[in-house]
Amino acid sequence: MNLDAVPILDQHCHSLLRAGGPFTPADYARFFTESGDRTMHERHVPETVFFRWAIKELARRFDCDPTAEAVVLARERTSADALLRDANIAALLVDYGYQTDDTWPHAELAERLPCRVLPLLRLETLAQQLILRYDTFDAMLDAFVAGIEAARAAGYVGLKSIVAYRTGLAVRSTTRAEAAGTFAPIKKQARRDGRIRLAVKPLNDYLLLRALEIAEREALPVQFHTGFGDSDVDLLGANPLHLRPLLENDAYRHVAFVLLHASYPYVRELGYLAAIHPNVYADIGLAVPHLAADIPAVLRQLLGLTPASKIVYSSDASQIAELYWLAARWGRWGLGIVLDELVALGALNSDEALAAARQILGGNAARVYGVPWP
Ligand SMILES: [Zn+2]
Repeated sequence: MNLDAVPILDQHCHSLLRAGGPFTPADYARFFTESGDRTMHERHVPETVFFRWAIKELARRFDCDPTAEAVVLARERTSADALLRDANIAALLVDYGYQTDDTWPHAELAERLPCRVLPLLRLETLAQQLILRYDTFDAMLDAFVAGIEAARAAGYVGLKSIVAYRTGLAVRSTTRAEAAGTFAPIKKQARRDGRIRLAVKPLNDYLLLRALEIAEREALPVQFHTGFGDSDVDLLGANPLHLRPLLENDAYRHVAFVLLHASYPYVRELGYLAAIHPNVYADIGLAVPHLAADIPAVLRQLLGLTPASKIVYSSDASQIAELYWLAARWGRWGLGIVLDELVALGALNSDEALAAARQILGGNAARVYGVPWP
């Protein structure tokens, strides 16, 4: 089935580069991998199905030769605005935690794009800023709590945690005293370097649990990075099954846990969690578009067990508009393939298949985050 007319709510992505190019083919290849290694960009990324297929798709869109050399030149003539319109993307939920001076801050991104742009608050980034700013644990914690309590009023539609990247998803209940005991050496390091990367398990865990308490009171959904990502992640600790104690804790019963990246390669583990716990949602971002030709397989595995009402679309795209465009195109394509199979089987009728597509591509996320949706 063709799903081009179904609008997309991309529920997890990042900001765009202010100046997107011109790029050399090797510079361009770095957007098509989670590897930060230059040898990978130059020699091996061009050998991926993702890159080869992307170049062909983009060459058709840009009307140029299907080579990386031609695409990097032709892309200069097409705006991000045009690609997002083309992809029928109605809203983006953006995590600016990835922010550098090279990418647009929220107000400017929202002004430049043709769709709704709503921000997410990244917890670890907030904590890092506050550790730099405050001299005592108590002052830092008060500001952290206040920042999350004020999140809704400040326009944030949800929280995001990258604890999987930092100290793993096996979050332990931690006392305030235990967390406070880690503060002095971190603060010392922050003073010395002028920046920190927060990865001290008692503190990461304590702050996350405080944030979840507030999310419960404020009805804020929380996105968790799970499964694959850049080389920063210890994939073993990013298995979403580690989250079970949090998912079963009554204190967070009303928090929507949105588990990102299809938890790839733990896709079936994710599908299971979303099928068992009423407050767990399975996101397909990063797997779409990186899995390319294998995207239908990911969706087939999720739909094997998970209700259509629990699967949410995203791209995890960042920096260049082509990634949002490709993810939308391949996400619709992969979903269409799997839904067609289910209709051919007689498991779904075509109205049910279309309704499932509408839910997955936008309706579910709109409900979870309270975004108005047609
Ligand atoms: Zn992301």
